[in-house]
Parts: sequence; C-alpha cells; structure tokens
Amino acid sequence: MTALVLWYRVITPVRLNMRHRMRVEAVVEETPGIVSVLIGGRRLHRMGAEAGQFFRWRFKAPGMRFSSHPYSLSAAPRPDMLRITVKAIGDHTSRLRELRPGTKVWAEGPYGALTAQRRSRGKVLLVAGGVGITPMRALFETLPGAAGDITLLYRANSTQDLALWSELAKIAEERGARLMYAVNSPDGERPDISAESLRRKIPDVDRHDVFMCGPPG
Ligand SMILES: Cc1cc2nc3c(=O)[nH]c(=O)nc-3n(C[C@H](O)[C@H](O)[C@H](O)COP(=O)(O)OP(=O)(O)OC[C@H]3O[C@@H](n4cnc5c(N)ncnc54)[C@H](O)[C@@H]3O)c2cc1C
Repeated sequence: MTALVLWYRVITPVRLNMRHRMRVEAVVEETPGIVSVLIGGRRLHRMGAEAGQFFRWRFKAPGMRFSSHPYSLSAAPRPDMLRITVKAIGDHTSRLRELRPGTKVWAEGPYGALTAQRRSRGKVLLVAGGVGITPMRALFETLPGAAGDITLLYRANSTQDLALWSELAKIAEERGARLMYAVNSPDGERPDISAESLRRKIPDVDRHDVFMCGPPG
C-alpha cells in the first residue's frame, strides 16, 4: 500500500514535472471572480491529456505550495500550453489571481472520463452549470462532429457570470454548433431547463449523448 501511494502520489508526479517543467505564463481575468491561468511547458502533449479531463494542480507560490486542487482544462491541451479557468470560492481559488508569470507549477494527472471516448451517438448535448463550463468549453471546441451535431447549453445566474462567452460564440460560429444560454430573468426567476423545455428546443434530444458538469441542483 505504501509503495502504491509513493508511486502514484510522489514518484510519478516528480517524473512528470521534471519532464514538462510547467510554469505560469499569464493570469487573465475572465469575469469578476473568475480567472484563467495559462500554463506553459515542454512537450505537454506527452502527458496524454484530453479535453474534458482535469489535473490536481499545485503552485509553488506563497500559501499554495503544500496543497493541490483539482481544476479542469478549459481549452484543448496544446503541446506548449494548458489552461485552467477557476472561480474564486475559497482560499486556493482566490489566490490564483495573484500568481506571477514564471511561478513553477506541479500537476498530477490527467484524470477523468468526461472525454470524447464516451461518445456513442452522432449528436452531443453539453450542459454546463456555472464554472462547470470549463471542461465543456474544451469539449465544445474539440468533440468531433459536423455542423449541427454539437449543442452547448450554458446555465448561469446572470449574464455577468457567463465566463468565456466570446470564445464560445466564436467556436459555435466556426463549427456550426449551437450555443444556448439559460440565465435568470432580471427579477431573479430561474429559466426553465426541464426535460419538456429541452425537448421543445432540441426536438431530437433523445438522440444525443449528454455530457453535464456543474454544481448539484
Ligand atoms: C474534478 C474536479 C474538477 C474541477 N474543476 C474546476 C474548474 O475547472 N474550475 C473551478 O473553478 N473549480 C473546479 N473545481 C472545484 C475546485 O476544485 C474547488 O472549488 C476548489 O478546490 C476549492 O478550493 P478553495 O481552497 O478555494 O476552497 P475551499 O476553502 O476548499 O472551499 C470553499 C467552499 O467551497 C466548497 N467547495 C469546495 N470544493 C467544491 C466543489 N468541488 N464543489 C462544490 N463546492 C465546493 C466548500 O465546501 C466550501 O464551502 C473542480 C472540482 C473537481 C472535483
């Protein structure tokens, strides 16, 4: 047991991080309270990460060295760059905005099965709630499909909470994919995203694979 823990939690991450030498490239504010962290490194494609997956991230910065937190890739992984997008809700998530370019980054992963390999049908409905948009953004960009095959439904409390919306609009236009937002009305009423309402908006919804990510409820 100790050997397994040592192998997976210590030796494998050490080897991975020596090979890829990841560093913070930039921190970008997406909306108030949500930042993207761009992480550069060497031969990152050899990590074998796919859109939809996550890593446990550790940043060699004050107050962040000793804890690792899970964040999904919010864009398709590139050989020289990975990106995460994070909503500040506590200690670790709030400190990310203070990261300086050049900060060393350790990652453990990739983890997660929310990938294109789960596909069983031609059409896909991606449903994102709040910051659950992060893996969905990466999948929206990369899932194979012809024009009209991919739909993204993005639920947020308000339009100000919609992160990455301009990228999403661009991807939708380039791919001929469908992008639908579901935000509260100005008086706070929640939008109807019941099964019936989905069936009205997407009549062939029962012929779609559905990928979901977001908070409960
Ligand atoms: C597989 C996975 C992928 C994730 N990807 C992303 C991502 O791409 N972007 C992003 O912003 N966040 C993501 N998260 C959530 C993120 O990991 C947590 O928000 C973060 O670790 C909280 O750390 P903290 O120290 O800032 O807050 P803490 O002080 O640990 O928590 C603050 C408050 O948030 C609650 N909380 C903590 N974690 C979660 C959670 N996972 N779900 C709901 N409530 C929680 C706590 O109960 C507490 O009330 C992901 C979580 C998982 C499990």
